[in-house]
Amino acid sequence: ESKKALNFIEHIIEEDLADGYAKSQLRFRFPPEPNGYLHLGHASSICLNFGLGEKYGAPVNLRFDDTNPAKEEKAYVDAIKRDVEWMGFHWDKECYASDYFQELYDWAVMLIKQGKAYVDSQSSEDMAKQKGTPTEPGVPGPYRDRSVEENLDLFLRMKNGEFEEGKHVLRAKIDLASPNMLMRDPILYRVLHKAHHRTNTDWCIYPMYDWTHGQSDYLEQVSHSLCTLEFLPHRELYDWCLDQLVSKDRLRPKQREFARRNLSHTVVSKRKLLQLVEGGHVTGWDDPRMPTISGLRRRGYTPESIRNFADTVGIAKRENLVDVSLLEFHVREHLNKITPRVMAVLNPLKVVITNYPEGQVEWLDAENSPEDESMGTRKVPFSRELYIEKEDFREEANRKFFRLKLGGEVRLKNGYIIKAESCTKDTDGSIIEVRCTYDPKSRSGSGTEESLRKVKGTLHWVSVAQAVEAEVRLYDRLFSDENPDGHKERDFMEFVNPNSLLVITAYLEPSLKEAKVGARYQFQRLGYFNVDTDTTGDNLVFNRTVTLRDTWAK
Ligand code: ATP
Ligand code: MG
Ligand code: MG
Repeated sequence: ESKKALNFIEHIIEEDLADGYAKSQLRFRFPPEPNGYLHLGHASSICLNFGLGEKYGAPVNLRFDDTNPAKEEKAYVDAIKRDVEWMGFHWDKECYASDYFQELYDWAVMLIKQGKAYVDSQSSEDMAKQKGTPTEPGVPGPYRDRSVEENLDLFLRMKNGEFEEGKHVLRAKIDLASPNMLMRDPILYRVLHKAHHRTNTDWCIYPMYDWTHGQSDYLEQVSHSLCTLEFLPHRELYDWCLDQLVSKDRLRPKQREFARRNLSHTVVSKRKLLQLVEGGHVTGWDDPRMPTISGLRRRGYTPESIRNFADTVGIAKRENLVDVSLLEFHVREHLNKITPRVMAVLNPLKVVITNYPEGQVEWLDAENSPEDESMGTRKVPFSRELYIEKEDFREEANRKFFRLKLGGEVRLKNGYIIKAESCTKDTDGSIIEVRCTYDPKSRSGSGTEESLRKVKGTLHWVSVAQAVEAEVRLYDRLFSDENPDGHKERDFMEFVNPNSLLVITAYLEPSLKEAKVGARYQFQRLGYFNVDTDTTGDNLVFNRTVTLRDTWAK
C-alpha cells in the first residue's frame, strides 16, 4: 500500500466505496481518439487511469474514441497500443466507440420516438444564431417541432446516405434557455461521407462526442470516467444522455474532471504536434525532440522515468505549467542506475604522449558502473595518440580550471597521469595537438604509490587508432519560449527553435562498435545517450537523451 496522500480522484472513489460501491464495480478506461500519437499529456491520463486500476485491482479498458473518420487512422490505433504497452500498462478490453454505432443509432431512434430529438435542417450559422448567447436565451428554430414521423423518416434517410454533408443534423431537444450552452439542443449526429478505418462505408452518419462517450462508458460499465477540465460543462449533458437509457440494475458511470498537464518549452496537443510534423519542423511523430511517447522512447527515455515523473507531479484541479526539467531529472535518476559508463569524445583534440612507445596498445580495465558492481568491467585501449575534448585543454588557465593546461597534470580516466608539455597550432592559431608525457607508474588500479597520487582533474578520452566514429545528435529545446502556447497575440509556431538539433561526428571507445539499437549508455562527463533507430551496419547513430546536469538551470 502506498503511503502517499490520496489525490482528489482517489478521495471521490473512496467516498463511493464508503457509500456502497463494491470494489468489484470499479472500472476505468483510457479513451484516446486515434487522430495522432500519444504525448506527455496522455501519459499523465494513462498513469492516472491505469494507476487507479493497479491501486484498486480494477480493470482498465483501452477505448478508442473513433467517431470522426475524417481525422482518424488505423496507423494511429497501432501507435497508441504500442505506446501504452511500452509504458508498462495492460488493458483489460480493447474497445472502440465504433463498435457501439448500432446501439447509439437505436438509442437515437428511441429519443426521436419519445420526442426528445429532432432533425434540424438549418445552416450551421443559423443554428448558432438561434442558440442565443450565454446571457440571451435561444429561440426555437423552424424545424424544432417536426413530427416524430417526419424525424424518423429524415433520420433514416440521413443514415441511408440520401443527403449531403451539412444538410441535416440530429439534435437533442433539451432546453434552449439553459445557462449551459451545451444543453441548448446539442447536435447528436452529423452526416459524413467518409470511410471509417473499422466500419468502412457502413455508416455515413457519425455520433458526436457527447452522444458517444457516456454511452460507451455505460456499455462497458465504467464506474469513473475521468477526463480533462474542459469537459466540465459537458458533464450536465453527459448526465442527460445517461438519464435517457440507464436502467436501475446497472451501474451508472460518473464523469469527473482533472486539470490537463501542460509542460514548459513544448506543446501537448495532437493537432499542434501534427503541424510540426506536416511543416517538416521535425522528422515525424517519433522525432526525438517531440513530446510524444514515441519520441521520448526513441530519445532514450525509460517508461519508469515517465511514470515517476507523472507520479511526482500527480493530478490537479487547476491547470499549471510543469517545468520539463522535472522530467529530465527523473530520466537522469533512472539512467544513472541502469546505464553502463563508456568513454566518447564529441569534440576531438589530439593528444600525443611522446614518451609512450609507438605502436604499443595496452588494454586497460574499466569499470562499467560505479552504481552497480554486477555490471562488471570492460577493456579500453590506451596508446600513444588519444583524443580528448577540445574544451578540456587550454594553454593557460587560472587555478580553477581543473582540466589540462600547459605544464599541468590530469588523470586520464581508467589510465595514466599525463602532463601537457607543448602544443602545436595552425596558422589561424587554433590548436592542432597537445604533446604530453605520461607517468608510466601511475596506471589506475595498479596499486602503486603513483597510481594513488591525487591530481585535480580526470578527463575522458579515446585512443585514436581504435576509435569508432559515430553520428551523434545533440538536442536542444524544440521551442525557445517557456510557454509557446501561452501568447495571445502570437502563434506557438513562431517559437520553434531553429537550432534544436546539432549533428556531429564523435569518436567512441571500440566497445561501442556493436552497440544495438535502443541500448543506453552514459558517455562519461557528457550525458546519457542511446543508439538511434536510424543506425545501419556502417553508420552508428546516437541520440543524447539528456546531459548529466541540468544545464538550463541557473
Ligand atoms: P489533443 O488535444 O492532444 O488531441 P485530446 O484530449 O483531444 O488531446 P484524446 O485522444 O481525446 O486527446 O485524449 C485521451 C485522453 O487523454 C482524454 O481522457 C484526455 O482528457 C487525456 N488527455 C489529453 N491531453 C491531456 C493532457 N494534456 N493532460 C492530461 N490528460 C490529457
Ligand atoms: Mg478527445
Ligand atoms: Mg483532440
